[in-house]
Amino acid sequence: MPQLDSLTGLFDRTETISCVETLAAAFGIENIAIIDIEILRFGSINNAVGTDTADKVIKTAARRLLKHFSHVPAIGRLHGDHFCLVFTKPEILENEVKNLLEFTQRPMAIEGQIIVLGLRLGIAKGNVSTSDGKALVNHAEIALNNAKRRNLNIVEFCPSMALDAQQVHEIENDLRVSLFINSAELHQALTNNEFELHYQPIINIEKQRIEYFEALIRWRHPAKGLIPPLQFIPIAERINIMNVLGQFIIDRACLDAAKIPEAQGYTPGISINISPSQFQDTDILLATLKRAIKHAGIMSNHIQLEITESTEFCHVMEDSLDALKRLGVKLSIDDFGTGFSAISRLIELPFDCIKIDKSFIRDLMCNDAKTRNKAEKMVSGLIKIAESIGLKTIVEGVETKEQLTLVKSFGATLIQGFYFAKPMPFEQATSFCIEEEIA
Ligand code: C2E
Ligand code: MG
Ligand code: MG
Repeated sequence: MPQLDSLTGLFDRTETISCVETLAAAFGIENIAIIDIEILRFGSINNAVGTDTADKVIKTAARRLLKHFSHVPAIGRLHGDHFCLVFTKPEILENEVKNLLEFTQRPMAIEGQIIVLGLRLGIAKGNVSTSDGKALVNHAEIALNNAKRRNLNIVEFCPSMALDAQQVHEIENDLRVSLFINSAELHQALTNNEFELHYQPIINIEKQRIEYFEALIRWRHPAKGLIPPLQFIPIAERINIMNVLGQFIIDRACLDAAKIPEAQGYTPGISINISPSQFQDTDILLATLKRAIKHAGIMSNHIQLEITESTEFCHVMEDSLDALKRLGVKLSIDDFGTGFSAISRLIELPFDCIKIDKSFIRDLMCNDAKTRNKAEKMVSGLIKIAESIGLKTIVEGVETKEQLTLVKSFGATLIQGFYFAKPMPFEQATSFCIEEEIA
């Protein structure tokens, strides 16, 4: 029997190491890679919410890892707030890091509180000189410590770290791209107007038209270039500037909505992502929307709001959703299938649409038949259920013709994904609307 961690049901430290050794024997140590994951400032979370709630945070993080990394051969909890993922395909690691940041840093609603986790990662890849599985796990831990000392979020192990783990080196060549963002920089970025919205079309394949453009924020950092939202939104939430940033997003998106040209007798709307923290003061959210819609001179039904499912739609939010609905905007649940909301609860809430999370669309192409099967059932089932209760569905994350054909066969009509278009600056997105043949 494998030894499991009693709180999370993941492998404990001993079992994780033994798994690494078994995998190394089967695939060769040079094909094994490890990510050691630490939850940032977990001590402060513990102090702020108490041990019981903090345990629930650990359990939720573990559940997310299990759900989104079901294809990974071993997931462990090394100790406290340290988790570990073991991979047998080091070449896909970069993509997996991206997924990890995306799925784990989503806000979690626990006992009425919204908690956003930050992560620090230590990465180690096996090679001919790695003595054994234990050494590989140690390397990932050394890399993580190195990241901590240098205040970086991701560091990959290199041998000079092992020679003197206490030494602080600037090993730029071995450093993964630093995701560390300084909160002062983020404040400054607001005053310097460094944020911009890109737009990705949501296409109605039945009507052959663009239904919405989803507004996706980017930070044009003067030195680091274009920074994607998952690298700064969790920080903006933590330092309480999401309301101000949210107001900028709503204002800009409504002004842009007014400029979208009509095509074939239809004018696409704009879909705006709303962060859970913007629900902490619904009056501000409502007032901002009302003012922005009026100022831009658009119809409120040209605006759709995307609210992530992970906020659990607690009762506090129910009144807010009703108020938004009365304003005339459309409401959509983003990343559906990743949170915990029951379908029965959905019927009670005033949503118009669900966006099926892209992880299911990715899994439709998974090599593992069980995962593929599960994803097929989820996607086709959700489309049917949504339809039967009068909700629209948007399928996000469609990247290939194969995925498109499959989701079409499940009855999907509203589709978004790199197969059609990536997020683009406004002018480019709206010219796509006129020029391109879409399905
Ligand atoms: P989301 O709302 O689920 O947005 C979809 C994300 O998936 C976008 O990433 C988009 O670029 C990406 N995507 C679209 N099609 C595909 C595809 O075919 N394959 C793959 N692999 N990815 C695809 P992005 O722009 O990095 O945004 C990430 C998340 O950040 C968003 O997820 C949303 O939760 C948040 N976000 C983005 N803009 C805003 C914003 O203005 N306000 C708030 N509150 N959150 C935002
Ligand atoms: Mg969205
Ligand atoms: Mg989404």
